[in-house]
Amino acid sequence: MRDETRIVHSGRDPARFEGVVNPPVLHASTILARNLSDWEERRRRRAQDLPGTYYGLMGTATTRSLEQVLAELEGAHRAIVFPSGLAACVVPLLTFVAAGDHVLITDSVYGPTRRFAEHTLARLGVATTFYDPLVGHGIEALVRPTTRAVFVESPGSLTFEVQDVPAIAEVAHRRGATVIMDNTWATPLCFRALDHGVDVSVHAVTKYVGGHSDLILGAAAATKAAWPALQTIAYELGQCAGPDDVYLAQRGVRTMHVRLERHWATGLALAEWLAHQPEVERVLHPGLPGDPGHALWNRDFKGGSGLFGAVLKPIGRPALEAFFDGFRLFGIGASWGGYESLIVPVDLGGLRTATRWPHPGPAIRIHAGLEAPEDLVADLAAAFARLRAAR
Ligand SMILES: *Cc1c(COP(=O)(O)O)cnc(C)c1O
Repeated sequence: MRDETRIVHSGRDPARFEGVVNPPVLHASTILARNLSDWEERRRRRAQDLPGTYYGLMGTATTRSLEQVLAELEGAHRAIVFPSGLAACVVPLLTFVAAGDHVLITDSVYGPTRRFAEHTLARLGVATTFYDPLVGHGIEALVRPTTRAVFVESPGSLTFEVQDVPAIAEVAHRRGATVIMDNTWATPLCFRALDHGVDVSVHAVTKYVGGHSDLILGAAAATKAAWPALQTIAYELGQCAGPDDVYLAQRGVRTMHVRLERHWATGLALAEWLAHQPEVERVLHPGLPGDPGHALWNRDFKGGSGLFGAVLKPIGRPALEAFFDGFRLFGIGASWGGYESLIVPVDLGGLRTATRWPHPGPAIRIHAGLEAPEDLVADLAAAFARLRAAR
């Protein structure tokens, strides 16, 4: 079965729900057993991690629908949903480390994941080394006898460096560490993380799976070996997600392949257009042939999303304000992956410790939505005209 087919059919069972195409939205805490034996059977199945329901915290048919399609897309043993993408990033880290251990995290990691390591992991006695995202096999020199986990994110969601995930995973596994990847940018449709050596692939479902800027949710998909520990710790930490958001994500995922193609094509068109503007120092997009990450992206990825960056040549505050204030289509706001276009200034202050960001000018991040590319180019062109007039 191809991914496009899988995404439509997997995790749905209309026959179980009177023929209704989508799973029901089950609002549940208590789930009643028919009798004593049924109660005992449900408890036994829960203890042995067999399919079934026992208590709302552990999920229902609504939850399983989303978990199953995400697991199948990743080629994973199982997937589990989390109340946010951030929870899906930090619970796997907590799963595989203990006091006295060491983790390696890419310097390009999502900011809140970095702060979790610097603050909470440090407080629990876990040491973190942030490494150059372009380190590749060179990560070997940073591995300690206590290194238990290596965290990758490719491309980084602010600066878009592509990592050599198979090379990093090879070293990590040889040295006994678990590989966790934030795979939000590519989604499993464009990067099958587990096929490239990742043990736990993490997603902010908030972004492309949800796809409509109306929910917060995360998920992690794991290999058979990594699954039991991940599930145990997720339950111990009381992680679960509400059925309405899970349902919306389940609905969103059914069209993700079609949406992503459009996000990708429009993002690439905008990136190419930006590369020709004299005020642009550099475009950060691994799909552009001149990008430093292009060869690796070409080798490992089947496509990508509509999120990319650019660095402007140094300008003053009035010109930057003129550029941002006046967009008709691009919104200024956090997150991405919805149907609408976004643009934000990127502040890397405090977000780099292993590498130095070389560009003095302001960086921007663009999410290409599903609008007509011509209209988006016109909105950007007007912004550059405002910038020039304010200089
Ligand atoms: C948004 C995001 C997250 C966190 O997702 P939330 O659902 O907002 O908690 C994690 N990683 C990346 C790369 C993201 O863009």
